[in-house]
Amino acid sequence: MFDSIAERLEGAWKKLRGQDEISPSNIRDALRDVRRALLEADVNLQVVKEFIAEVEPKAQGTKVISGISPDQQFIKIVYDELVAVMGETNVPLIEVDTAPTIILMAGLQGTGKTTATAKLALHLHKLNRSCLMVATDVYRPAAINQLTTLGNQIGVPVFDMGSDANPVDIARLGVEKAKVEGINTVIIDTAGRLQIDADMMGELSRIKETVKPHETLLVVDAMTGQEAASLTHVFNKQVGISGAILSKLDGDSRGGAALSVRRVSGTPIKFVGIGEKVEALQPFYPERMASRILG
Ligand code: GDP
Repeated sequence: MFDSIAERLEGAWKKLRGQDEISPSNIRDALRDVRRALLEADVNLQVVKEFIAEVEPKAQGTKVISGISPDQQFIKIVYDELVAVMGETNVPLIEVDTAPTIILMAGLQGTGKTTATAKLALHLHKLNRSCLMVATDVYRPAAINQLTTLGNQIGVPVFDMGSDANPVDIARLGVEKAKVEGINTVIIDTAGRLQIDADMMGELSRIKETVKPHETLLVVDAMTGQEAASLTHVFNKQVGISGAILSKLDGDSRGGAALSVRRVSGTPIKFVGIGEKVEALQPFYPERMASRILG
């Protein structure tokens, strides 16, 4: 796992080799290369700066353990810190004792929100948790059809009221229906826009205030790179999120958005999307992501 980054950062490690302590002078180049690796992995610049500032004192003064090369030891420190920043372990979805658990999906248009709604429903369905998906994107009738088609495909019902109803009412009545029918989990798909705008945030906040979800999950496209941090910041500040789903990780992004999202919101990434199919969802594991980010 550490071989590839060791190769990538070959120049910097040479200075560490043969030393018996990782010191301020011999660590400078290594840290600069870690900084570059993180930026190449699309971790947000500010997040990179903070990360380096935290790793530096941890690495300095570390005695080199015999039998382990100092460069390997340094990479291990960086790796452990990445895992720590991303939360150490997988954080599962909340499940409340008194059903239904209510999950609100948020995100920009095209990030994979509707797909993630169906992926989550299928995931829960396989765990024998009954689900209802609620279609509140009244601005794009195609979005309602998309969710209905996905629902048919995975055998999970979809609640919709067409495109003339108010999204807040649809969400509220969807939750009511789930309560009446004793459904375990309601997943509310919401409208996205190409960019953040006040109307979208206002509507999302009103839905949230009305249905009081147990989870508000932001779907972030892993390919958006640097922008993931500002996007997460705005959604978290204006609506408040409890976690995120990182979509499109099957692309060639190194996944730096994971570090940015966690760092900026302080909330866990719960799942990753790894393809267009409804089955293409996996729990998020900080160790795997740390290895991927380090390349
Ligand atoms: P929404 O506008 O946020 O609801 O986005 P959609 O769910 O409609 O997804 C937008 C596009 O991204 C569609 O073509 C999806 O098939 C695709 N998509 C969603 N999730 C993933 C993923 O994890 N990997 C890949 N490769 N494509 C995805």
